Amino acid sequence: RRLGWAVAGLGHFATSYQIPALGRARYSELKGLVSGNPEKAAEIAQRTGVAEGSVYSYDDFDRIAENPEIDVVYVITPNSLHRDLVVRAFEAGKHVMVEKPMATTPADCEAMIAARDAAGKKLMVAYRAHFEPVNLMAGTMIREGQIGDLTFFSSDHHRPLDPSTPKDQWRMKRALSGGGSFIDIGIYALNGALWYLRETPAALSARTWSPEGDSRFAEVEAVCTVQLRFSSGRLATLSSGYIADKKRIDAWGSEAVAVLDPATEYMGNRLMVSSSEGTEERQSEFGSQVQFDREIDHLSRAILNDTEVLTPGEMGLRDVRLIEAIYRSAGEAGRWIELNEDGSARS
Ligand code: NAD
Repeated sequence: RRLGWAVAGLGHFATSYQIPALGRARYSELKGLVSGNPEKAAEIAQRTGVAEGSVYSYDDFDRIAENPEIDVVYVITPNSLHRDLVVRAFEAGKHVMVEKPMATTPADCEAMIAARDAAGKKLMVAYRAHFEPVNLMAGTMIREGQIGDLTFFSSDHHRPLDPSTPKDQWRMKRALSGGGSFIDIGIYALNGALWYLRETPAALSARTWSPEGDSRFAEVEAVCTVQLRFSSGRLATLSSGYIADKKRIDAWGSEAVAVLDPATEYMGNRLMVSSSEGTEERQSEFGSQVQFDREIDHLSRAILNDTEVLTPGEMGLRDVRLIEAIYRSAGEAGRWIELNEDGSARS
């Protein structure tokens, strides 16, 4: 059986990637839309076959409770608006997928998890790299010891912020985005570090920088660097930026280095293994975009089979707690912050 999904927020990512993915998915299909723009919603409904009665505005969204065709609500709005829609979706008795970052504050994430528990439904954070073939292959290689012992991890996620496109306008406003390049794309480096090293950090230090006089960065940082120290003593360095354009991961093993370059693009990611014998390409993924439909179907299958989701609300909360600590450290000139197991700051 295919579960019915409603997409809330019909912006760039929803319309270019996830609505098409719902058309390809095997256990999921698009059955509803939630939008502040009735004309856009009507046009997408007509094109995708969504019934007129299954199109909601943000105001009348709660009526979705009466729609038995919709099992899951997928929230793809600006970051600080996730909480309200996620909580209302749970109150309407639906399961929820929410885009990364889960929210802009740990308190919002906690409210979403509490709403999930009250509803007895599932909550998944849309960390698509966990379903992307090149990242999965790298994870397998590392786990199987194919690069030796993992001694160090670094990841850099940068892309230019373009103030002329609507999708980047809210990203310049802290109240909507929660921060700059780090909360937006540095989160891939952070989530990847914890995923590949299979450990939570014990302490971190961060700094941010923005070019003087660049109006894009009046409220949010352009560049952020983070040092992580794990309980085993291992180290990682992460960077994010809104000026240059590259997303890469380097996992430094004792025998070889796994290089993902690009690491987390929508398509075209590549895995290379570099050692004293040279550099060899292990896997590339061109244009299939399977990460999106696999991610969506993962939640539908977890609901159908009542199994755990791989990227639950608790993971989203942990990352948002770490990001809060990162911005706090940056605000205190890179002071090292000791961390609890759950990602919250201890000092
Ligand atoms: P976008 O601006 O293109 O889309 C946001 C949508 O929310 C728009 O349709 C907009 O009209 C709507 N919206 C509702 N209330 C709004 C308000 N008060 N201000 C502005 N817009 C409002 O942005 P996007 O790039 O599609 O990002 C949406 C979400 O998806 C974000 O949480 C972002 O982090 C996430 N995202 C994830 C990925 C990924 O690869 N997983 C990629 C891009 C974006």
